[in-house]
Amino acid sequence: MENNTIPMLDLRAQYQTLKPELDAAVMGVVESMQYINGPDVEAMEKEIAEYCQANHCIGVSSGSDALLVSLMALDIGWGDEVITTPYTFFATAGAIVRVGAKPVFVDIDPVTFNIDPRGIAAKITPRTRAIMPVHLFGQCAEMDPILDLAKKHKLAVIEDAAQAIGSEYKGRRAGSMGTVGCYSFFPSKNLGCMGDGGAVVTQDKTLADKLRLLRGHGSHPKYYHKVVGGNFRLDSIHAAVLRVKLKHLETWSQARQQGAAFYTATLAKYGLSRLVEAPKILQSRHIFNQYVIRCADRDNVREFLKKDKITTEVYYPVPMHLQECFENLGHKVGDFPESERAALESLALPMYPELPNAQRERVVRCLAAFFEAAGKMARRAAA
Ligand SMILES: *Cc1c(COP(=O)(O)O)cnc(C)c1O
Repeated sequence: MENNTIPMLDLRAQYQTLKPELDAAVMGVVESMQYINGPDVEAMEKEIAEYCQANHCIGVSSGSDALLVSLMALDIGWGDEVITTPYTFFATAGAIVRVGAKPVFVDIDPVTFNIDPRGIAAKITPRTRAIMPVHLFGQCAEMDPILDLAKKHKLAVIEDAAQAIGSEYKGRRAGSMGTVGCYSFFPSKNLGCMGDGGAVVTQDKTLADKLRLLRGHGSHPKYYHKVVGGNFRLDSIHAAVLRVKLKHLETWSQARQQGAAFYTATLAKYGLSRLVEAPKILQSRHIFNQYVIRCADRDNVREFLKKDKITTEVYYPVPMHLQECFENLGHKVGDFPESERAALESLALPMYPELPNAQRERVVRCLAAFFEAAGKMARRAAA
């Protein structure tokens, strides 16, 4: 790596290994002149559906639009409530507000960073229409209690699986368990295209037809509009790229899992096991879109690593209930303490399939150096 920098993610490493195939796929679309809804889109939808254990897949313009069009397809709007987590990327709550509905937050389980299902029942009202769990960092939320509650109260389940394509809960793939599952193909996700892209999957044929209709302005046949949709189409070029990459996704996920196991073992070797929380959900498959540790002194740790040219990231510094644009929801600091603590403590370490273990070891050595120096300072102050 140039200048000895360890990046969070190195897209070039992946591109270089697949360059001939990717270039051919892109040029194939360029030559075909079928830039929108070409044969690659349909083929990609079939392949993604199969990979995700779903009957239907609808390619869309982004992960954010996947969430939005799902809410539209379920007729969720004004006066409705959707239960979700405050500790997520903005698009989750943003989509709910964009259709006019109200996000109702439930705090996270501190071990998994995912919505704590034990908090959901108390938030269900006659206005509740759906639960939107997020499978954060590549690990599935605890789906059984969520699906049970949804069934009991006749609610839809919209899985935000943007970070979790290929992850599993009790042998079931993320996105395939709820009413709909939403994926993002943003370049930093485990399966990334060359721009913005996303997909919705569902087991329900009627819902799949409606999603398809909404994706193209509700038009069928052309210029006869049954409903008001939007332009949520996926460009053919991205579908062609995704088809090439999908064949490698399992290998990449395994490399991420091995990298994560190496981080965990190395943290233990340096006496830093306290920085990782052991996964609680058994029978689940984490695909490590991110490898996230926790430290009380997070911002100083981050600065220290940065001086050694180690890049880290904070996902996410401000939980949704404290965002300026959601002020009208009337939340305050202290409403969701675990989400707020995660926002203060979480630190994502460099994570991508091609990252060499020697670099991971350097990251951990640097962390150990920080805590050693901090310990010395504390002892000196106490003396
Ligand atoms: C990335 C992401 C999205 C949005 O996906 P885009 O393709 O960037 O629009 C939604 N939810 C979560 C949890 C994400 O990480």
